[in-house]
Amino acid sequence: MTSAHSEPELRAALDAVPRYKAGVAPPPGPVGLTAYKVASNENPYPPLPGVLAAIADAATGVNRYPDFAATELTQALSKSLNVAADQLALGTGSVALIQYAVQISCDQGDALVYAWPSFEAYPIVAAIAGAESIQVRVNDSYEHDLAGMAAAITDKTSMVIVCSPNNPTGTSFSRAQLVEFLQSVPSRVLVVLDEAYVEFVDDDRDLRSVDLVKQFPNLCVMRTFSKAYGLAGLRLGYAIASPTVAGALRAVSLPFGISAVAQAAGLAILAPAAQGELQLRVDYLKAERSRVLTALGPMATQDAQGNFVWLPLGERSETFASMCSQQALSVRLFSGVGVRVTIAERAANDRLIALASEFVSP
Ligand SMILES: *Cc1c(COP(=O)(O)O)cnc(C)c1O
Repeated sequence: MTSAHSEPELRAALDAVPRYKAGVAPPPGPVGLTAYKVASNENPYPPLPGVLAAIADAATGVNRYPDFAATELTQALSKSLNVAADQLALGTGSVALIQYAVQISCDQGDALVYAWPSFEAYPIVAAIAGAESIQVRVNDSYEHDLAGMAAAITDKTSMVIVCSPNNPTGTSFSRAQLVEFLQSVPSRVLVVLDEAYVEFVDDDRDLRSVDLVKQFPNLCVMRTFSKAYGLAGLRLGYAIASPTVAGALRAVSLPFGISAVAQAAGLAILAPAAQGELQLRVDYLKAERSRVLTALGPMATQDAQGNFVWLPLGERSETFASMCSQQALSVRLFSGVGVRVTIAERAANDRLIALASEFVSP
């Protein structure tokens, strides 16, 4: 006799976990039209030759587990950032580190404060931990309402995430604003500063944050190799924090998460010659961003500090996104709110400009 087996009982909190919508590959365009994926803020450039060589070399050793502590890469980061090695934690992308940050600070029922709209992973990592998301709307200029966020902190709050430049709105806040915010947050609350796009910020902005970790031991700065460094597929990010916080992040990390291939590529890209070449690419993308912003005018948020532009089109967002899709440009739609488009190859940027002008005056 066979008895019917039922599904196992999973944590009730999982019902509240939103599913991440990954950027989609562009649809095939009308004949002759190259398709571009501008939905995930990836770097359009292929890896640098030196990085590819390091990857190929490291690949020969993948029968072995990687260096558990990513010693060489940690040392290289420690040197380039001028922080002690015990202030660093590495993760499989900074999204993993953000999830670890929730794990080290939020118990079931705790509150996690962040801006909205902001990175779509935040509500997911909060819900996985059974933490309550407190979303504080960005202001009319699509900037973080830092005072509002500080005011939203209660006894239940164990963590706050601020994102600068903010995905998807592109705005950033200054070092001075960050300091003022940190002074208004109780020191028992962990403040995660997500700087996934910091390398794209205009030169005249003072966003320096890393040294503030000394003054504010509750600050944790998150960076990634996925955007400016062009290694999204290898999954590599890092956190800079106090030794206590960084140690806790390392303690909850997935063992051997950072592959030897990722470690080698990360090391290769931190080499001075590679940094120089990378800077040329970042400068080009920033120049393209200016060109696109000028062409788009009021259709885009003009303060765009990441490698993407934000079009707050409200109800008209769907229409514009489907226009783009029909022309083999896969943008990121935030339904009823706006459209985010990555600054990419020149031809992709040109197509965005053409579509935007057609949208404004058909
Ligand atoms: C892309 C992104 C990240 C990190 O991506 P990883 O590939 O996991 O390093 C983190 N925060 C924001 C806001 C992002 O847009």
